[in-house]
Formats: sequence, structure tokens, C-alpha cells
Amino acid sequence: MLSLERTKPHQLHYTQALVRRMCRTDEELPDYHARLSNLEAGFYGEQRSDRELADFTIPHKHYFLHNLEILNPQGFSHQIDSIVFSLHFLLILEIKNITGQLCYKPDHHEFSRIRMDGTKENFSDPFEQAYRHKTFAENLLRSWGITTPVEYAIVITNQNAMLDDSLQGYPIFHVSGLRRSINYFFVKHPDACMTEEAFEKAGKRFIDALHRSIPKRRVSLDRLKKGVLCPRCEFQAVMHYTAGNWQCSSCGTHNKQALRQALDDYRLLVSERITNKEFRDFTGIYSMHVASKVLSRLGLEKVGDKRGRFYIIPENWTADK
Ligand SMILES: [Zn+2]
Repeated sequence: MLSLERTKPHQLHYTQALVRRMCRTDEELPDYHARLSNLEAGFYGEQRSDRELADFTIPHKHYFLHNLEILNPQGFSHQIDSIVFSLHFLLILEIKNITGQLCYKPDHHEFSRIRMDGTKENFSDPFEQAYRHKTFAENLLRSWGITTPVEYAIVITNQNAMLDDSLQGYPIFHVSGLRRSINYFFVKHPDACMTEEAFEKAGKRFIDALHRSIPKRRVSLDRLKKGVLCPRCEFQAVMHYTAGNWQCSSCGTHNKQALRQALDDYRLLVSERITNKEFRDFTGIYSMHVASKVLSRLGLEKVGDKRGRFYIIPENWTADK
């Protein structure tokens, strides 16, 4: 069955690497920590919703497109958490993992939550976000010769969230309501709006149009900890290369994967290209000859001749995918 699986977002990968590498005294570190918590909570919530969707049988032909990211004709991105696409309708799901009492003032497009301690925080209007995706999807489908109802809903994945009466009548519910909501849309739209051939073709076109944006590298190398960092010491201690292995200078542990993690951080935070000199400077290996051996053992793609040679660090090659 055609589907687009959810993968860990680039922004989450990038922020994890940044928090791992940023100097403890950096004044922006608390902001990045807070951003990381939000990104992790968001990703966890999306996975929770995916499990709920996978848990029940939809008795009609359909597929799921998770974390679909497409540019509109104006060059702006549409990041859609999940799509349920069927012959009868297309459903856009905006997934929110937030807790507290959720309130809405539609006239002011103000969506807020009140925490247990009484503090209030505003969020961007999720109905407006979903409506923006809906009009985009309608236009895109129309340009492919398909006219089908496009619905949307906001899915709350945190069971501690309380939906205020001001949300009554709006398409927002806890994740456990997904099953009933999808069944409701099949009752509301009993007729197929396209042929199976057009349906399959549209699914492939959505996937072909996928455009994952890469976060801009915003922090200079001098604000980051260099070195192969020890995972056991929560990335606070540097490891040294001795007798063909990496050993922690603090706890003494050996770890071969730590080098891959370090190079993945380099790719995310600095560049996907690294020269022998940059590699030595980042990892603390002194000898050019040893660095060259370590790099070739990693099997990285080499580009250029001796003087201008650099290596390409591939995506997703660490254990932490
Ligand atoms: Zn250690």
C-alpha cells in the first residue's frame, strides 16, 4: 500500500546536535533546550497519533501521508502532520501534543492554554494553519484534475489537555476520537470522487512533490564543543583515539559509534563536507596519516585530489536514526 512514513524531523536532529555540542555557559543554551523539548514533544505526539491510526481498520481504500512537506507556488512551505487520503475525501490532521486548558477566541484567532499554575500561553491558531493547508491541497488536487472534499481536524495527543467550552463545534478532539471522526467523514462523503487510477496517481504525485527543508546552520563553530564526545558522560567528556579505538578521558569507556555521532553532529552543525585538516581539528587526532586511515575506514565518499580532497558525511548513518 502506498504511504509516506514519518521520519524524525531535520529540525529535531539539528537541535539535538546543537544542545549536545553547545558550551554549557552559552547564554542561548536554555532557549535551545526549551526548543528541543517542544520538538521532542511534537514528534512524540505525532507518533502517538500514527499508532492510533494504525490500530484500526478503515474499511475503504486509503493511504496515509505523514509529515508531508510541499512548497506552494509562492515558495512557502506546507508542513502537514498527517493526511488520510481516500477515494471519498482528503483529511488533513494537525497534531498537537500540549497540555493544560485549551481555549479559543475565534474572532481574534487566539488559541491559548492555561497551565495548572494559572499561567497563560498563546499558540498560533491551529484552525487557521489547517485551513491554509486545506486551500492549498484543494488547489493542488484541482490542478491534477481532481475535485474532492478536503476536511481538516486538530488532534490533541496529550491526555492531560482539557478542551474548553469555547472549542465546542470546532474540529478538535483527543487522539482517541480519530476512529470515530474518520468513520464520520466516510458517512458524510459516501460517494467516491475519483477513479482508483486517479487516486493512485495523485498519491505518487504527493510523494514526488515532497520537499524537506533543511534547517539553516545558525551557530558558529567556536560556540560548540569540539571532539568525539562520550555518550556515557552525557557528551560532556572528550574521547581520545588510542590503539584503533576511542576511549573516554573521564570514565575510560570505549565506544566506536561515538566517532560517527561526532561526524553526524559536524554534518548537521557545520558542513556535510570535511577535509583531513578539519577532521583532525574537530576530533583531536594529531597525525594526518592516522586521520586519513580513520576516514577511509569509515568508507566516506572522497572528492577531489590530494590537496583539495574532502569527504562527504552521509545522512542517517548513525545508530540514532
Ligand atoms: Zn565517559
